[in-house]
Amino acid sequence: MPHPTDDIIRAMKSHTAEDQKAIQEAYDVAKVAHNTELRKSGEPYIIHPHAIGVTLAELGMDRDTIIAGILHDTLEDTELKAEEIEKKFGQTVRFLVESVTKLSKLKYRGLERHVESLRRLFVATANDVRVIIIKLADRLHNMQTLEYVDPVKRHRIALETREVYVPVAERLGMGVVKAQLEDLAFKALEPEKYKETARFLKERGEQEKEALSKAVNDLRKGLAEAGITNFHTESRIKNVHSFATKLAKKGNDPDKVYDIFAIRIIVPTLADCYRTLGIIHNIWRPIPGRVKDYIAAPKPNGYRTIHTTIITPHKLIIEIQIRSEEMQKESKFGVAAHLLYKDPKKNPEKLATVAWAWQFIPSLMKVARGQAKVAPEVAAAPDSPEWLKELNAAAEEFKSGKAFDQALREDFFAERMFVFTPKGDVIDLPVGATPIDFAYAVHSDIGNTMMGAKVNGKMIALHDPLHNGDIVEIQTKKSAKPNKKWLEHAKTSGAKHHIRNATNKTQK
Ligand code: MN
Repeated sequence: MPHPTDDIIRAMKSHTAEDQKAIQEAYDVAKVAHNTELRKSGEPYIIHPHAIGVTLAELGMDRDTIIAGILHDTLEDTELKAEEIEKKFGQTVRFLVESVTKLSKLKYRGLERHVESLRRLFVATANDVRVIIIKLADRLHNMQTLEYVDPVKRHRIALETREVYVPVAERLGMGVVKAQLEDLAFKALEPEKYKETARFLKERGEQEKEALSKAVNDLRKGLAEAGITNFHTESRIKNVHSFATKLAKKGNDPDKVYDIFAIRIIVPTLADCYRTLGIIHNIWRPIPGRVKDYIAAPKPNGYRTIHTTIITPHKLIIEIQIRSEEMQKESKFGVAAHLLYKDPKKNPEKLATVAWAWQFIPSLMKVARGQAKVAPEVAAAPDSPEWLKELNAAAEEFKSGKAFDQALREDFFAERMFVFTPKGDVIDLPVGATPIDFAYAVHSDIGNTMMGAKVNGKMIALHDPLHNGDIVEIQTKKSAKPNKKWLEHAKTSGAKHHIRNATNKTQK
């Protein structure tokens, strides 16, 4: 019997009969739960969770994650209870759905200064990288159907996508998702510029189509002659937003953007990558200074590939990217690729989240690098990427509670807390911070005219410490003035600075 989830099943790398049954059941449960609810497009709501199921399957996610994706809006929007989800689909699915629901409450309201806080909170809250991947799939479909949303909300969602989701996808190394989100946000925020850039790329693509396919043929021939036969190629045109960005950097001269077109060669092993590079430079003239070996020196998000740029006899400039099958998976799916083929018992989810956080935290990096001990089973795996090895080592240290713990204490997550404005903006503050710090973190004018503070609806003293998750409302009065005593109760240097400034002025 055909079932609406057949396309999800087909998109999965592998599945058992039970997986199929459970995914079908999840769909049926979601459909009943969402009932007559409609999307803004007027279509039945179920198309949304369904689309997310497909994306997650394409990303190579496991059954639990796919099911959680299908059920991700049920707790928020329907009568379905977490207990029922657990009874039918297990603890993990319940945990994932609850976490996604929690994460959905965070909203970006266009305050530049708070963006980084939101990104960090996003990750800290998610706790398990699968939650972030579900959120990214959710956002992808919402962006694809953004035209149906009213303009004000559309703008906010697109901005949030660009400021929060794109960097998160980037840092997780999920190139495919990142590029799509980025272009959709570009299209929504700068429709004219998007249209113009997309048109240019399309025309260029048409113009160079033949030359490009000739280059691919020459390449295939050259590789085969050199004895490399087990490979495949793909061509890609730069995504619209990254082309626009690069174009602006190159003084709006498209001829200076060398990587509009790229041919990717995917070979079996790492050694083949270097051999292939040699062969390519034998076929065509490379442009000097354009070889980038991201295998020897991966990008911070783990991206590994060799780039080189060549000129064909027809004067077409093409970037060639050489990578192994494993690197291909990594560069498209990033962290998701690791969830796919690593032993789940080794718990890469946690580690991957740590990896993301890691990039913000120089102290962690230092400690982990200086004292890295590679976990034996990971070190032994030849396909294990370098950064994961390092990460594992760092996590080992973390478990043993030694140096890593010390570093963590100095770090962000251990010492920071996240509190909210009544509108839901995230403010991150050091632990022990008071309403005084909060007020100045929002705006110095608010600090300077503060007269009282409400936390979670109740009045508190200005020197009372705030706690993670508090909603803080500052009451102001035009005639109010900062008090020198506040200095004793302020934790942040920003607040102290403003208080000193203001009180000195009044003294004079
Ligand atoms: Mn949703």
